[in-house]
Amino acid sequence: MIQGEFKSGFVSIIGAPNVGKSTLLNHLVGQKVAIVSPKPQTTRTRILAVRTTAAYQIILLDTPGIHRARGGLNLAMVRAALATLNTVDVVLLVVEAPDSNNLNNISVFEALHTTRTHVLLVVNKIDLVRPDTVDDVVRSLESRHQFKGTVKISALHGSGIDELVTRLVALLPVGPAYYPSDTLTDLPERFICGELIREKILHLTAEEIPYATAVTVSSFREDPEKNLIHIQADIHVERSSQKAIIIGKGGAMLRQIGQQARLEMENLLGARVFLELWVRVQKKWRQDPRALREFGYQ
Ligand code: GDP
Ligand code: MG
Repeated sequence: MIQGEFKSGFVSIIGAPNVGKSTLLNHLVGQKVAIVSPKPQTTRTRILAVRTTAAYQIILLDTPGIHRARGGLNLAMVRAALATLNTVDVVLLVVEAPDSNNLNNISVFEALHTTRTHVLLVVNKIDLVRPDTVDDVVRSLESRHQFKGTVKISALHGSGIDELVTRLVALLPVGPAYYPSDTLTDLPERFICGELIREKILHLTAEEIPYATAVTVSSFREDPEKNLIHIQADIHVERSSQKAIIIGKGGAMLRQIGQQARLEMENLLGARVFLELWVRVQKKWRQDPRALREFGYQ
């Protein structure tokens, strides 16, 4: 291959909550970098992941879902998503096929009006519908913005991904690899470990608990001789009633969270993990700028 033909660029994945942005990111890099759940607010920060081949390097930015937000954590999340729009080479606007009623009123279109960045329309979860049933909605979406193309995919099963990558690379400028070819993400391992704990809480708890929870890793010690990593993490909640739910009867819930998170950490880190979890109450942290900074949300 001629060196000059190598293509590279930054690609932001945006869209409403729960349409499958993080699932798409993970599929594109072949590893779980971003946590996934059916609940909104699963992704709270910008997540960077890299896909490199001999021909191109795509630097992907997964973002929190774009929705109307007034303040605190919600506003910080939407800002994190919109901040990427003008700094990338291509935007992937993801919508979900089954939710055709909602496709038309995503506030993201307002943001797109102000950007000159190339945008590809990605219609996800096509496995849940007959593909031709979304044609009308797709046409109406296409009338609202000058997209560089539309691709129907299933991020979960992988269909349409090859076509998406081909279209994406075609829009990237010729450029160098910005990251070493074996780079998967710029996130520290300890951050991903905290996220894996949060993912298990999202899956195992209900109602307000997932939204009131933040996780920070307070200690990450490697013992290479034993191939063991000792991880201490704090689960922050807003009220003592929430703390009681996270701990569960006789500590059963916390044990389940810990066991499931530990297995995924061991998979990610290729080492045995000793995981210690603490649950702490920090009143109204979602409205507290200092706590938001401390937990990595601002
Ligand atoms: P995000 O909020 O946009 O990042 O969405 P997630 O990636 O967290 O996914 C939200 C939910 O949709 C999860 O339960 C995923 O498993 C599910 N999901 C994502 N992509 C697909 C898909 O292509 N097909 C189906 N059936 N489900 C999907
Ligand atoms: Mg997400």
